[in-house]
Amino acid sequence: MRFLSGIQPSGNITLGNYLGAIKNFVALQNEEKFDDILVFIADLHAITIPQDKQELRKNIRSLAAIYLASGLDPKKCHIFIQSEVPFHTELSWILECNTYIGEVQRMTQFKDKSKKEETHGVSTGLLTYPILMASDILLYDTNLVPVGKDQKQHLELARDIAMRFNQKYGDTFVIPEPFISPKSAKIMSLTDPEKKMSKSDENPKSYISLLDDINIAKKKIKSAVTDSDTKVKYDIENKAGISNLLTIASSLSGDTIEKIEKDFENKNYQEFKEYVANLVGDLLADIQEKYNKIINSKELDEILDEGRNYATYLASKKINKIKNKVGLGRKL
Ligand code: ATP
Ligand code: MG
Repeated sequence: MRFLSGIQPSGNITLGNYLGAIKNFVALQNEEKFDDILVFIADLHAITIPQDKQELRKNIRSLAAIYLASGLDPKKCHIFIQSEVPFHTELSWILECNTYIGEVQRMTQFKDKSKKEETHGVSTGLLTYPILMASDILLYDTNLVPVGKDQKQHLELARDIAMRFNQKYGDTFVIPEPFISPKSAKIMSLTDPEKKMSKSDENPKSYISLLDDINIAKKKIKSAVTDSDTKVKYDIENKAGISNLLTIASSLSGDTIEKIEKDFENKNYQEFKEYVANLVGDLLADIQEKYNKIINSKELDEILDEGRNYATYLASKKINKIKNKVGLGRKL
């Protein structure tokens, strides 16, 4: 069994990325049923919106170090940079020719992000992004894809594309399954708890970056938007901000939401926020200590080299099979 997932180096990796994605990669890598694990840095996805060249370079390396600092074990998984394996884009073209425009146009993420990008123009890549994502997954015969809830629709599209291709050209792709952890599938923005936390949000107060100064991160939690009520109670409809903090606290402490509600039954929001801020502070301190040891190491490059070589080996075999099925080039 193989699992694969990736994150875009499009900004500072957030607590949402950690709880919705990375934390699950780390848990799954210890499950016996997975004998092959691929985790990549989706730099090709990041350029769907404008990126500063220097920043992007920095963020690519930084994300690799964050994966390791968060507990991904290079003995158990292969970590690689997407753009270092050219077959992702090659497959993406083939799949684009087998995907209808309407299918990508109705993706809610495209609708949201293209609205935000309207002022400097919406790239075609933003529209075709889910097809590149399907290629990332299908290229490796992936069985399971751990992602946050916001990626569910893209994963369904990847499944549709795979099934259609299999029907048209004969059995080629494994149909991937999503793995969405119910507990922390969608961490919300701290300044607008109706919106998901995103690393590309223009307001840094809306997210906790894993590399934030610890005091600043704690302050962000303490000033998170809540409501005018006083009860620490999970109620997504009427108390989105408090519900979000309860989700964060439960995911970080391992306690159930019910237990935390009980612990804070007779306490105020300030005390509750203090508690959540400390949990977040402890996580960041742990990750940052490891991160600082790894970020400038030679070992980090060696891990990325190994990952690139392994992914290239798997992908090159698969792409030849796919091209043969479609009738491209000379028979190999
Ligand atoms: P961007 O704003 O650039 O799209 P992002 O924060 O959405 O950044 P992605 O690189 O798109 O991050 O997604 C990486 C992984 O993190 C995906 O599995 C995605 O589902 C998950 N994820 C992103 N945001 C959240 C969130 N708020 N809560 C839980 N999981 C999330
Ligand atoms: Mg995203």
